[in-house]
Amino acid sequence: VDTITTPASSGDVFEGKGGGKYQVKIIPDKCIGAASCVAVAPKAFKLNDQQIVTVLPSINEETDENLLLAAQSCPTMAIEIVDTETGQKVWPK
Ligand code: SF4
Repeated sequence: VDTITTPASSGDVFEGKGGGKYQVKIIPDKCIGAASCVAVAPKAFKLNDQQIVTVLPSINEETDENLLLAAQSCPTMAIEIVDTETGQKVWPK
């Protein structure tokens, strides 16, 4: 079994902005591939071939509310959210 390294594979994207004001950032080292974020926000997140979450271009079709729900669903808090209007970190608190 290969050791998982970060970034998991070339071309993976770990940041993106939703359709609202939230900027999302993944901490790949914290992701355990639980995929709850993928279930909540399938346009924003996808697991790569090493079962690490990556950000999809279609994240801009997800609402702020849904992105926050996805981040809150992550058992390891691997998803950070910043409000681009205020510069404040929204999640984790
Ligand atoms: S919910 Fe968290 S641990 Fe699970 S795939 Fe998403 S970021 Fe990774």
